[in-house]
Amino acid sequence: MVAKEKNKVKNLAVLGSTGSIGQQTLDIVRALPDRFRIIGLAAGSNHNLLFTQIQEFKPEYFSYAGYNTETTNLKAFVRPKYLPLEEMATLPDVDIVVVGTSGIAGLDAVLAAIQAGKTIALANKESLVAAGEIVTAAAKKTKARLHPVDSEHSAIWQCLNGEKQSPRHIILTASGGPFLDYPPARMADITVTQALAHPSWKMGKKITIDSATLMNKGLEVVEAHWLFNIPITDIHVLIHPQSIVHSMVEFADGSVKAQLSLPDMRLPIQYALSYPDRLPNETLPAFDWADFGDLTFAQPDITKFPCLRLGIEAGKKGGTYPAVLCAADEVAVRLFSQEKIRFTDIPIIVEKVLGKHDGVFSPSLEAIKAADNWARETAYKIAGGNV
Ligand code: MG
Repeated sequence: MVAKEKNKVKNLAVLGSTGSIGQQTLDIVRALPDRFRIIGLAAGSNHNLLFTQIQEFKPEYFSYAGYNTETTNLKAFVRPKYLPLEEMATLPDVDIVVVGTSGIAGLDAVLAAIQAGKTIALANKESLVAAGEIVTAAAKKTKARLHPVDSEHSAIWQCLNGEKQSPRHIILTASGGPFLDYPPARMADITVTQALAHPSWKMGKKITIDSATLMNKGLEVVEAHWLFNIPITDIHVLIHPQSIVHSMVEFADGSVKAQLSLPDMRLPIQYALSYPDRLPNETLPAFDWADFGDLTFAQPDITKFPCLRLGIEAGKKGGTYPAVLCAADEVAVRLFSQEKIRFTDIPIIVEKVLGKHDGVFSPSLEAIKAADNWARETAYKIAGGNV
């Protein structure tokens, strides 16, 4: 019995531990210390928070992108030991690699973890959107498991558990973001502060702005296509401002399954870690039906939110187009955050970059990285001129 109990502790490496997903993963570990143990923590830029996290969770290893420059407090550690990111993703002791980094920067670590046959709790959208074919083929080969962390994909995963047939449709819900009912004529004047005020979800900055443009939903359509092997034409988007129904799956007989909970990322994070178990956790909020008399659903407005259309179109084209979409969007969102372009310039830049791209189909990893670099340079050039 003792051995069996001991086996229940899962060892985690958290990549992107100081970001939103990373911090909420550590909340789960803090609440369930008998189930999860931190072996490795990796961060990109916030070394002060990483230092605090190391003191609390006492991992055996840590990784830090700027390790050789300004990290004197981290260098003071004899233990934990410093490791490069890809090595941390493949440590033999690690049961689950949590990938909470944002952007294409997470791709190499995801592929390293897949090569090592790890279970990956995947919050990084770009690795699936930009390199879905390579990532899913590699996972099939090594039997590495991809556990979705994104709330919509977690919902679909939960709805599909126990089903033998592929669904007829997937219905991805979208909150619609802060500008769902905003006058289209005023969209050009939206400020960074307004775009960062998401009505229902607590998330990182990049994904919050992507949620405001609905680019996030376009990326999620492509992500769902690869995760669940469903044609993009069978994935529908529905606006659901309350963010209670996290997505739905419709089967051949017309029956629809949905997953509901309060919008709190800790729940899908915990499920990706505890699967196939469901663990009681008193720190997670309980859902009270009486508080939600009105759950509403509506078609998205792709004229007002062109990023959704661009995401779906790039996914349908395939090849290197989704990588170009991700890279151009990353640049455009950064420039908007720096107040260098307007909110409505984001889709204009992304569309222009996609329009200039000569796609490569069934691309190698090198071709994807080359397309990513080209798209970044092209996006900066376009933004530098008259957008
Ligand atoms: Mg999501």
